[in-house]
Amino acid sequence: MIVSLFSATLDWLAHGLWGLSWWQIVLYTLLTTHVTIASVTIFLHRHQAHRALDLHLLPSHFFRFWLWIGTGQVTREWVAIHRKHHARCETSEDPHSPVAHGIKKVLWQGTELYRAESKNQETLNRFGAGCPNDWLERNLYTRFSWQGVGLMMILDLALFGAIGLTVWAVQMVWIPLMAAGVINGVGHWWGYRNAETPDASTNIVPWGVVIGGEELHNNHHTYPTAAKFSVKSYEFDIGWSYIRFLELCGLAWVKAVPPQLVINKTKLDCDGETLEALIAFRFVALKKLQELTKQLWADSVPRKKLEVFEVRLKQLWTDSSASKDQLVRDLRQWCVDAEKSEIPGLQVFAFLLPGYTLKKHSR
Ligand SMILES: [Zn+2]
Ligand SMILES: [Zn+2]
Repeated sequence: MIVSLFSATLDWLAHGLWGLSWWQIVLYTLLTTHVTIASVTIFLHRHQAHRALDLHLLPSHFFRFWLWIGTGQVTREWVAIHRKHHARCETSEDPHSPVAHGIKKVLWQGTELYRAESKNQETLNRFGAGCPNDWLERNLYTRFSWQGVGLMMILDLALFGAIGLTVWAVQMVWIPLMAAGVINGVGHWWGYRNAETPDASTNIVPWGVVIGGEELHNNHHTYPTAAKFSVKSYEFDIGWSYIRFLELCGLAWVKAVPPQLVINKTKLDCDGETLEALIAFRFVALKKLQELTKQLWADSVPRKKLEVFEVRLKQLWTDSSASKDQLVRDLRQWCVDAEKSEIPGLQVFAFLLPGYTLKKHSR
């Protein structure tokens, strides 16, 4: 009896309940970490922090449960810290800016930065509004936030035996490494930019698969309330594919996507529509202006003169006291002055600007 119990225990330690081969275990680990990444990007980030989409109770409860066993993350803490990151971006108050805290610190000690901020009650009160506060949240997910990952460890051990501990360890370091380190660190430090946002955000690679589309971080800072992170035809956001699938199943409702720009070359005068499009595409327009002036650079043009034009352009979306009519008049005057400037890049930009038109509700 004792011998057969001993051999059964040995057998379980070696193979677990499922008795999977090594590659099946690797596949399982990758799949489960990907589900965790999808839960973070769809539920915590796009749905809870930015309200870019609504979710049906079914996926919503699934994501909450999965995040509990997969990360031990408390929704309100994550949401508050992330909203503060957007509101105080790259300042000393930004909880995880590589510009303010240094890339090494954010990359390797991102979790510590996160944990310290999660204890800041003021952050939670100010930025944590509107998160789940039902019975489950109060009595299980928030109250026993770390017991969930313990449950995952028991599950891994039961399914795979001793190797289950390794599976669990990989599952547990995945989010701190990928989200706290890679997105918060690399996504504000290295990569390309489609738009000249006031922060240092970057798109790490154009294909957002490994971190669920979060790779396209500069696009996200350009359109923070959009549920879709890809904007160029060659970019791919796997998180958006999942959201579209949920939407087709009647389990999600997208509230906003990035606007689309159309340049109507027959339109030669700026009006309210131009202003609306320019404001929607302000960071893309700034990038375009900088590219054009760099490409068509005239050595004799002093940098200061260009900066004056940039500052005047930025006033069109930062001056909250001016009326819309006044802003349209300012925009027209900006174009007239730019055309007279004798700076080729600026002249090309001023020629294209009146044609800026917003194509709404397109995906
Ligand atoms: Zn960011
Ligand atoms: Zn965000």
